[in-house]
Amino acid sequence: MLIAANWKMNLGKFEIDQFSNFLQSNEFHDKLDVCIFPPSVYINYLNTRIECLPISIGAQNCYHEFSGAFTGEVSPTSLKDIGCKYVLVGHSERRINNNESNLYVQKCTSAAIKSDLIPIICVGETLKDRESGTALDFIEKQLIESVPSSFENIFVAYEPIWSIGTGKIPSSSEIKEMHKHIKQVISSKFNNSIKVIYGGSVNPSNVSDILNVNEVDGVLIGGASLNPKDFLAIYHSTVKHLNLYFSNN
Ligand code: PEP
Repeated sequence: MLIAANWKMNLGKFEIDQFSNFLQSNEFHDKLDVCIFPPSVYINYLNTRIECLPISIGAQNCYHEFSGAFTGEVSPTSLKDIGCKYVLVGHSERRINNNESNLYVQKCTSAAIKSDLIPIICVGETLKDRESGTALDFIEKQLIESVPSSFENIFVAYEPIWSIGTGKIPSSSEIKEMHKHIKQVISSKFNNSIKVIYGGSVNPSNVSDILNVNEVDGVLIGGASLNPKDFLAIYHSTVKHLNLYFSNN
């Protein structure tokens, strides 16, 4: 089970200090993976602030080349070098704002794998696709074109675009149907298996219902991960959901 916090282009040094101090007061379970994705310029800083905690650091994107004349791009090898474990690839905000195509996402994912990072490939349909009944087909195409032909350890984040930052989430049966579909597509087209996490308006009040869907292997949290109290509330709901106990209980 993975709890991933996508901070997007938010929080600076001062807030990172406050956030890390808050995390230091919490007990973390080593059976539950937690990863924070800060803005890339703060990856190192956050890492130094939480290095004593069992929390991983990830990057919000990476380029598909490792070095060279690519001004402003972020190399996956550099991310590995500064301690990243995971990298988000093809987040819908990047697909929309930076015109990242499925093929581009596939190339970045392959480069991330070669750099020993664990990619989390983001997929998600628009409201139009959901309402017209083509969501499953849309996601299948995104997967077939974005996932590299061979891989060992990657995640898919199912993030319906209409759910990101809106407070609206799909019903449990819609989440179940889509997560099952994603796993089936990966099994039939790639002869492989994959973990699928859900993202889109996850908060402390809805996380239990989302985790109760069997096919959900974790959550990707945007807005609610910026507030350390909400983030830890989500963490503790997940601990409860998994029936994990702490050594001093
Ligand atoms: C996201 O953008 O990855 C995300 C999940 O955002 P939010 O939780 O704010 O909907």
